[in-house]
Amino acid sequence: MKTAMIGLPERWDDTFDVVVVGYGYAGAIAAIEACDAGRSVLLIEKMSYPGGISICSGGNIRIADDAEKAFTYLKATSAGTTPDDVLRVLATGMTEIPDYFKRLAEAANATVDGRPSPGNYPFPGVDIDIFGYISIDTIAEFDAAEAYPNVSSYLPPHRAAGIRLFKVLEDNIARRNITVRMATPAKRLIRDASGTVCGLSVETAAGVQNIKASHAVILACGGFEANSEMQSQYWQEKPIMPVAFSGNTGDGIRMAQDVGADLWHMWHYHGTYGLKHPDPDYPYGVRVKRLPDWVPGRGVRDNVKVPWILIDRNGRRYMSEYQPYTQDTSARAFSHFDTLTQEYPRIPSLMIFDDDAHGTYPLCAPTFNDPDLTFDYSAEALQELEDRILKKADTLDDLAAALGIEVAVLRETVDRWNAACNAGRDADHGRPPTSMMKIAKAPFYYAEVWPLCQNTHGGPVHNVHQQVMNGYGEAIPRLYAAGELGGVFGHLYLAGGNLAECFVGGWVAGRHAAALPAWTDSSAKENRVAALHK
Ligand SMILES: Cc1cc2nc3c(=O)[nH]c(=O)nc-3n(C[C@H](O)[C@H](O)[C@H](O)COP(=O)(O)OP(=O)(O)OC[C@H]3O[C@@H](n4cnc5c(N)ncnc54)[C@H](O)[C@@H]3O)c2cc1C
Repeated sequence: MKTAMIGLPERWDDTFDVVVVGYGYAGAIAAIEACDAGRSVLLIEKMSYPGGISICSGGNIRIADDAEKAFTYLKATSAGTTPDDVLRVLATGMTEIPDYFKRLAEAANATVDGRPSPGNYPFPGVDIDIFGYISIDTIAEFDAAEAYPNVSSYLPPHRAAGIRLFKVLEDNIARRNITVRMATPAKRLIRDASGTVCGLSVETAAGVQNIKASHAVILACGGFEANSEMQSQYWQEKPIMPVAFSGNTGDGIRMAQDVGADLWHMWHYHGTYGLKHPDPDYPYGVRVKRLPDWVPGRGVRDNVKVPWILIDRNGRRYMSEYQPYTQDTSARAFSHFDTLTQEYPRIPSLMIFDDDAHGTYPLCAPTFNDPDLTFDYSAEALQELEDRILKKADTLDDLAAALGIEVAVLRETVDRWNAACNAGRDADHGRPPTSMMKIAKAPFYYAEVWPLCQNTHGGPVHNVHQQVMNGYGEAIPRLYAAGELGGVFGHLYLAGGNLAECFVGGWVAGRHAAALPAWTDSSAKENRVAALHK
């Protein structure tokens, strides 16, 4: 496709004040705010259906009561990778989300559920009286399975708050004068001669169109969880399976790089471990059951059992299978590369457990937003999927043979684990004792386990206004990013933080973009002259 990288097109096919790219939560909020500020808004979506990865989410948005303490916590989680002023905007925003959220919910006949919940790690500000979650509780006359038959969150649809949240945002978009175009992927940004972003080219059924954005372009087009080539450039471990959605292929990163954006947090993804679907054409990894989070040093719920241990392909345990935030950090341990064997001995790893542990709860939690998939989230369907994934061995020797592991090594691993269970202490990896279950009673069950990417955090650097920054710390004129496209989390994630970023980043970008004076061709000429005289 031929499009100009710099310089104006011969003609504009359409003109809007603000063009928002990507119809997930972040794009929806940015569009709502730009519209409410009086601007004409175009919201474009690459796929033929909306929702992105957002609609599969748990729908839990992180909120805070005290902006200063929330900032202190966020600063500790960032380990110096994100400037204070940017973190402060998010921390303050977290205190403003509840009122904002209630207004959107009311407009869609929805009720809201708020509850206290601590941060994930014992940093200053972690406390339960500072942090909480807010989500959509109910929506009048709404049947999630009927409304979105091709969406699966990790809970049955009627319990999936992420689906309800998307419905609320979709209703709020529909009641405004926002132009929405599906199946319209943004391809490249258009800049005037001074480097100001003044539009973008998009692909449509009728061909490539150039759309003028008189005030700004807001990129809210997600991360690169479905782009294995980009992942292999930025991440050591491979392969990594996406968990839910195939539309996020790093397009926003490429578009922003094209106009000079700096990147941050590219290594960091929200990564868990999971199972491979028995159907080889199934495009996603299958998440294992979402385990409750716990804060190190502050105890763990004593009723959470984790049936399995994970071993590498040499037959040895190498990590706690129940980390404080298993859903977020456990993929990290898979990255070990053995230079003697030239292999990743932990990819895939192996999950093993015994007959007593079998059936503790359904293991699989398939998630997707994909028109080619449906899943009847019933106990029977979950069991059937599990039965197709799990394999069985009658003895430990058979298990070792099936896994291609030395019998003596497997026996040593299992004996050591069972001794740890008896002692009530995992001296090797510090797994919470109450979660431990022995591996003793045949038959034994096993499955391959892979690192999964739920969502990425990396992308273009942004400032306090969500303006995209170049490598010299300057804002690229009229270009914004919001949501997980260049999120603030560069070291450890705060559960619910992605959605908080969608809201706060979305409204900051939408309002700031709307407040800009309009770009005109003549201002482009003035800018060009100014640029020439610099
Ligand atoms: C199972 C699961 C549970 C989660 N639960 C939570 C939770 O409870 N709380 C939390 O904070 N986070 C959670 N997350 C993470 C969170 O859902 C995401 O980080 C967040 O929703 C991202 O929103 P977004 O709007 O930035 O991106 P998306 O929702 O992915 O939207 C981006 C959109 O941009 C579109 N797009 C891509 N390229 C283009 C292009 N070139 N042109 C036009 N459109 C394009 C995509 O198709 C997509 O629709 C969860 C994630 C998963 C997978």
